[in-house]
Amino acid sequence: MSKDQSIDIIIVGGGAGGLSAAQYAARAGLNAHVFEEMAPGGELLTIDNLENYPGFEEPIGGFELSDKFAKQAEQFGATIHFAQVDSITHNEDGSFTVATGDGDFTVPVVIMATGAKRRELGVPGEKEYAGRGVSYCATCDGPFFKSKKMLVVGGGDSACDESQFLAKLTQDVVMVHRRERFRAQKSLALLVENNENIETRFNHRLLEIKGEDDKVTHVTLYDIENDKTYDEDFDAVFIFVGADPRTQLVPYAELDEGGYIVTNEMMQTNIPGLFAVGDVRTTPFRQVVTSVSDGAIAAHIASKYIDELRGQAYE
Ligand code: NAP
Repeated sequence: MSKDQSIDIIIVGGGAGGLSAAQYAARAGLNAHVFEEMAPGGELLTIDNLENYPGFEEPIGGFELSDKFAKQAEQFGATIHFAQVDSITHNEDGSFTVATGDGDFTVPVVIMATGAKRRELGVPGEKEYAGRGVSYCATCDGPFFKSKKMLVVGGGDSACDESQFLAKLTQDVVMVHRRERFRAQKSLALLVENNENIETRFNHRLLEIKGEDDKVTHVTLYDIENDKTYDEDFDAVFIFVGADPRTQLVPYAELDEGGYIVTNEMMQTNIPGLFAVGDVRTTPFRQVVTSVSDGAIAAHIASKYIDELRGQAYE
């Protein structure tokens, strides 16, 4: 038996979902290998203080929690590679050949935990004030701006969903959207329009984010209809202009309209043996806790899948 045949599961991406899958798979006695290009943690690494992860009365830093996830997975026997995955070939016999910076491996199960890259708006001040008033996650950062004035940019489901969350923290949420109507589902858009803590300004663009002493103080907005540019004070700017799920490695997987991998409730994709967890899959709520849950489910079902495969192989 060659070296690669002893690996049961390859997990692509070492964020919360990937590391949880690794831990559960290894604990179930499977030889699980995670491939992560950067440090383990994924999106979690961008969270300064996580206040809503169950079990921690005091906020825990994203870096610290990532480290705990990784160490726990390793304690159970998972292997974490700091290497890039270049391709995942779906073979005729149903297995997958994963070409990585650490070599090629042929495995029965691949779990995609590659996440989604939040789109940036690309306006001046955005990078400079990221983490200092500019945010891409209301649940993570909204509580830091309780009772303050917040700007939300975008008109999709995320912008509407997250504005609602922010409107529980302050009476002063302004939403700007570049078109004359929301892209979001009607039900979500109506909730926003009927929320008295949210003022909606259609046909508006954010042009620049400005600040003083390392924090956001005001922005420049453009009123498209009236061709008018004006400055306005804000304490925080939340940007929800879409995300790009990282699915390039599995062009054969079924995707939804937004480009996310479609799974069933067992995290199985349309391809037997290929699973997806966390932000890369179609899901109504993208959180560390939901990714962790996805990872546990995927590993559990993958373990059964491998048992069945091997059972069949012995018949
Ligand atoms: P999205 O649906 O792609 O919407 C992105 C929004 O940002 C659109 O309104 C778009 O404007 C705007 N936008 C894009 N580029 C812009 C730019 N350069 N300047 C200004 N505005 C810009 O992304 P999303 O809202 O993050 O949702 C992503 C996926 O997750 C979707 O499939 C969504 O259904 C799903 N999701 C679902 C729920 C839920 O069901 N509760 C919650 C969150 C997310 P235009 O409208 O003009 O294109």
